[in-house]
Amino acid sequence: MELKKYWQPEAETMPREEIRKMQSEKLVKQVRHAYDHVPPYRKKMDEAGVKPEDIHGIEDIRKLPFITKYDLRDNYPDGMLATDVGKAGCVRIQSTSGTTGRRVIAYYTQHDVDLWEDCTARAITAAGCDRNDVCQIAYGYGLFTGGAGLNGGSHKVGCLTVPMSSGNTDRQIQFMQDLGTTLLCCTPSYAAYLGESLKERGIDPASLSLKAGIFGAEPWTEEMRRDIEKSLGIKAYDIFGLTEISGPGVAFECEAQHGMHVNEDHFYAEIVDPDTLEPVPVGEKGELVFTCLDKEAFPLIRYRTRDICVLDPTPCICGRTFIRMAKPMGRSDDMLIIRGVNVFPSQIETVLLNEGYAPNYRIEVDRANNSDTLDIYVELGEEQFGDTVKSVTNAEKKLAGAIKTMLGISPVVHLVAPKSIQRSEGKAVRVVDKRKLID
Ligand code: AMP
Ligand code: ZN
Repeated sequence: MELKKYWQPEAETMPREEIRKMQSEKLVKQVRHAYDHVPPYRKKMDEAGVKPEDIHGIEDIRKLPFITKYDLRDNYPDGMLATDVGKAGCVRIQSTSGTTGRRVIAYYTQHDVDLWEDCTARAITAAGCDRNDVCQIAYGYGLFTGGAGLNGGSHKVGCLTVPMSSGNTDRQIQFMQDLGTTLLCCTPSYAAYLGESLKERGIDPASLSLKAGIFGAEPWTEEMRRDIEKSLGIKAYDIFGLTEISGPGVAFECEAQHGMHVNEDHFYAEIVDPDTLEPVPVGEKGELVFTCLDKEAFPLIRYRTRDICVLDPTPCICGRTFIRMAKPMGRSDDMLIIRGVNVFPSQIETVLLNEGYAPNYRIEVDRANNSDTLDIYVELGEEQFGDTVKSVTNAEKKLAGAIKTMLGISPVVHLVAPKSIQRSEGKAVRVVDKRKLID
């Protein structure tokens, strides 16, 4: 059977004017649905002085108020669930991976699950896979959307689905070998760890059947992509999503590996200035905002993701017409301000990988004598470990210099023993900000 290039070509290659027309029609209906059935959103629209009748198409989206995570927390657990759907109309919940405050609960009807799974099926197809593939899912299963989302897409495509969940690295590797896994889905930090584990066990990635990986749920750099591709012997594709909007698959990478196509028939993407909330010119950096165009249970409109990124409307070589989003540079709320300078952890990771270190690090920010301190703990590789104290001190200075060039501020670098930084099986926690007193 010939390899399918698109999962749903009629949507994925739709001409731009038709996409806009479809989005306009869906938005008009969705605003009416939210106004009539999501009381907190109705209140927001009333406060903003805008009525569903004022919305005639996508160009009117700017008139609509935003929704933030605070709105969702304030309306915990089900204040934003559409009242005409209600719990009886839903078949599933998922929840955000936030560790502080009230978790956000997202509700899904069968239709909502279906469209989400179509999105992950598109991602799996775009990674060059079909029913002949063996898809090992090492994202966590449970409330987190990673496991469930990819599981559904893998079924739709007809892959042999291996629902491993995260952790138990020995068993992950054993199953890759025994079942001939061709596609691996997990967080990039866990993929990097699996690559490292293969090396430790003396397993040549070429001896496995792996050909592709779909990695997301946390920021990762191009340097980390190259590292993972090498250590696992695969092509590594990015996938983006968030629970509030559905889960992984809101956007996905194609063979070009150059930006993620937003599934624009279901989600409308905007970039706004996070301070003024005004849209920024196309191609400029800002906060990503999503509108769910046809979800029933949890129809969020203009949801502020806090992710900072750029949209690219230029045509893609793969033939898909959906707009692309660049890799998020981090979240505006995880952006650190250190001595007045905006710092994204991904910038530090880029330097570490360029300087030949593995992506095993911890960033600690604190305050001493009214000044911010930045300490970066970086793990040495086994081959670097036997070095003398003098050479380690020199290496620390060199790395601190490279980071200063990137950020404009000086960190204190600590090179630490191999395996001393805790590995992650899900989303990596790399930043400890000791200055933070409240959530
Ligand atoms: P959650 O809904 O708890 O899984 O978290 C969603 C958040 O994870 C997003 O808003 C992003 O900040 C982050 N995220 C998800 N996928 C990616 C990705 N591919 N690259 C960077 N950040 C991501
Ligand atoms: Zn493409």
